[in-house]
Amino acid sequence: MIARLRRAYRAMRLGTRLALGLAVLSLTVFAVVGTALTTYMRDYLAAQLDTQLAHGQIAQSKSIADHGTLGGKKYYSWFYAVYDVTDGRAVLRTPEDPADLPDDVGDFTALARAQAGAHREVLRTAHLRGEGEYRLRACEVEPGVVLVSAAPLDGIEDTVGRLITLQAVTFGLALVALVALGRGMLRRGLRPLSDMAHTARDITSHDLTDSARLPVRHDRRGGGPEVEELRTAFNTMLEHIDDSLAVRAEAERRLRRFVADASHELRTPLMSVRGYADLFQYAAANAPEERERHLARLRAEAARMGVLLDDLLLLARLDAADVETPLRPVRADLVELVGQAADAFRATRPGHPLTVVPGPRSVPLRLDPQRIRQVLDNLLTNAAVHTPPGTPVSVAVSVADGAARVSVTDAGPGIPPADAERVFDRFYRVDKARSRDRGGSGLGLAVARSLVEAHGGRITVSGQPGGTRFTVTLPTTAQALTNP
Ligand code: ATP
Ligand code: MG
Repeated sequence: MIARLRRAYRAMRLGTRLALGLAVLSLTVFAVVGTALTTYMRDYLAAQLDTQLAHGQIAQSKSIADHGTLGGKKYYSWFYAVYDVTDGRAVLRTPEDPADLPDDVGDFTALARAQAGAHREVLRTAHLRGEGEYRLRACEVEPGVVLVSAAPLDGIEDTVGRLITLQAVTFGLALVALVALGRGMLRRGLRPLSDMAHTARDITSHDLTDSARLPVRHDRRGGGPEVEELRTAFNTMLEHIDDSLAVRAEAERRLRRFVADASHELRTPLMSVRGYADLFQYAAANAPEERERHLARLRAEAARMGVLLDDLLLLARLDAADVETPLRPVRADLVELVGQAADAFRATRPGHPLTVVPGPRSVPLRLDPQRIRQVLDNLLTNAAVHTPPGTPVSVAVSVADGAARVSVTDAGPGIPPADAERVFDRFYRVDKARSRDRGGSGLGLAVARSLVEAHGGRITVSGQPGGTRFTVTLPTTAQALTNP
């Protein structure tokens, strides 16, 4: 039974539970107040009856003493008996009016006897046969004479009964009104909470794979500061989920684009390899003099594919650098590295005059020389590949504010400002068709940026018509490298 009640209580809504608690509390208060009021009323009325009995007896005692008869005012349904008490025996005097005595006077006689031995008035409550509950009072009129009066108690019981009925009705109505009103108010107060539950349910039914943003927010006002706090926390949580989903969706989108671009870029040299292989086969049978040419092209395409794959692999490893950084840092001189890169550039790109701007004689840093050389080569190659022949190129090294800077500047066509940030994106080329003709896949700057960032540095571009400048900034502090 208790278990069932407990289960029913647990299944109740919060509003109903609170209303029930309110009802129990009010009922307890009403019961305590009602009991106190009733008890006080009953005691008060009884005390008043006792006083009334005493007053009546004073007048009547005087009349008995003076005239030997009961005089004065008599109340309706009260009883009066006069006894002569001698040696413990009480003899009832004949009443003036038979209605002064009840049918059974046993209690009266007993009280008269008791009074004879007592020094003060005796009071007693007795049930008179055929009459009901009575309050009896005995007093000594004069030595040997005792007056016993009795007043009915049913008047008091009547009044108290009516009081109890009145209280029950009033308290009952107040309780019903309180519970009904309280439940209404609680329901209104708790509505924001159920609204929030609805919002949460809406989110559950929303397909998150469809779009990254949650279309739901909780925006109803009201409910007090606590509900406001909860609403703010709830919406902040939604905002947070939204942001995380957006970041994830963006990462997924980028990955998808990267995979698509990578496959596309790999397909182009692969198609060429296939084509040259077919041509080689044909030439082997029909035109042997063409064979070497096709073979050389085949090798070149395979080499291009190899470079592309190397770049992709390096980028993937740099992306996973938290796990294992692909750098092998040692102490090396940046100026010397720049000098080596410049020498190689002069040897391979004689069409582009290169100037090394005089700067510090040596900038020793902790870095991976092979990777920094790759960055420099990429920048210098771009300065040669994406500019017309004869465009002058210059490279400069400087140290300032705890950082070493290498800038590669060319006087070429420049990079439109709209593309300036995007050139570091993977597979991004300003002029797709032309860049690809030059053999570029658009990975060079992405690789350069990943490598520089793995060194704790930054790479920036400033390009306007008439020149492009790439600046690599590397920290001179040793701690910048993730791997010691
Ligand atoms: P890859 O380097 O992979 O062989 P790529 O040179 O085309 O190919 P990035 O080095 O990433 O790729 O360069 C991205 C794009 O930025 C280039 O396609 C080119 O349009 C532009 N760009 C880079 N350097 C210069 C420059 N010095 N002057 C003008 N445009 C440049
Ligand atoms: Mg390049």
